[in-house]
Amino acid sequence: MDGKKDIEILRIGHRPERDKRITTHVALTARAFGASGIYIDTKDPAIEENIESVNRNFGGKFFVRSGIDPKDIASKKGFLKIHLTMYGMPLKDTIGKIKESQIKTGNGIMIIVGAEKVPFWAYEMSDFNVSVTSQPISEVSALAILMDRLNDGKELENLITGMRRIIPMERGKKVDYIPDGEECLLILQRNNASQRLLDHVFMVERLATRIASSCNANIEVVRAGAMLHDIGRTVTNGIDHAVKGAEILRTAKISEDIVKIVERHTGAGISKDEAEKLGLPVKDYTPVTLEEKIVAQADNLVSGNKIITLEEVVENYKRKNLVEAANKIVKLNEDIEKICGINIKEISQELIHG
Ligand code: SAM
Repeated sequence: MDGKKDIEILRIGHRPERDKRITTHVALTARAFGASGIYIDTKDPAIEENIESVNRNFGGKFFVRSGIDPKDIASKKGFLKIHLTMYGMPLKDTIGKIKESQIKTGNGIMIIVGAEKVPFWAYEMSDFNVSVTSQPISEVSALAILMDRLNDGKELENLITGMRRIIPMERGKKVDYIPDGEECLLILQRNNASQRLLDHVFMVERLATRIASSCNANIEVVRAGAMLHDIGRTVTNGIDHAVKGAEILRTAKISEDIVKIVERHTGAGISKDEAEKLGLPVKDYTPVTLEEKIVAQADNLVSGNKIITLEEVVENYKRKNLVEAANKIVKLNEDIEKICGINIKEISQELIHG
């Protein structure tokens, strides 16, 4: 976490029939607090699958390897071994030494936690035998407190991001769903998107994410917004396709951040007055967030599955007598370039020429 060396966990004495739940909790805590993975001595595919599903939904690449030789893992080079045991030296007196040693050696950290009685070799092989208190407590709480001290509380900043994002609430539950590229493709296919539509959204996604990575924009939100921006075209090719697309995604409980991108992607946005004239539900469809602006402009700059220049976009609009809309697209381009300090034409050219 935070540029620091890896933290790995070694779980010894796991008994699948008794410890499935608590070992899963050790893994979940390790994952949420920034460890890169856990080794479990006894084979337990159920825990591996369970954590893999948490990764898929909530992000990160936390690994679980079960059915390993714990002595082999404990001999792994490049790691300081910290064995959590109520019989060890107090954490408050050892944490400073652990950090010093970590800085001096540049090593990662392997935290050893037991389930049943821990064999003596674990005490001998460890660089530090550490007690959180001298009272027996749960390995989950011992691990959480040690990792919190190792991370200086950084894990509380919720650094892992994934498809499902919990929105903190005073009361109640809210989960935001931001589908990844694979999920977006499935959603498009389930809605019978044509190959032509897929080719277009793939190119918009490439350009939009390239622009987003040069700005301080949320890439996951931009990716999903770009891939799903034209999902409404699976039901209509009219000016209302953005509104229809937003409806489809709201029904599928996709994050409102994505829904708004889709709803506001037409040209450089549609004002409330224009919406009324066009027979759309009367509201302002102007892109507001940076992510909304990026997807709208990437879409303007992709015709079919080809990237075109801003000048070509303007020419196309003017040819259809849409001068006002053309001016708005030029302004949107300037707006994004100013916010991000980039040149969109250069980015487009880089993408075209590989
Ligand atoms: N009976 C086992 C033994 O003799 O080692 C300990 C079982 S305990 C429930 C499971 C694990 O929790 C221990 O192996 C240790 O890693 C951790 N643990 C329990 N109390 C602890 C404490 N006060 N400080 C640090 N770790 C502790």
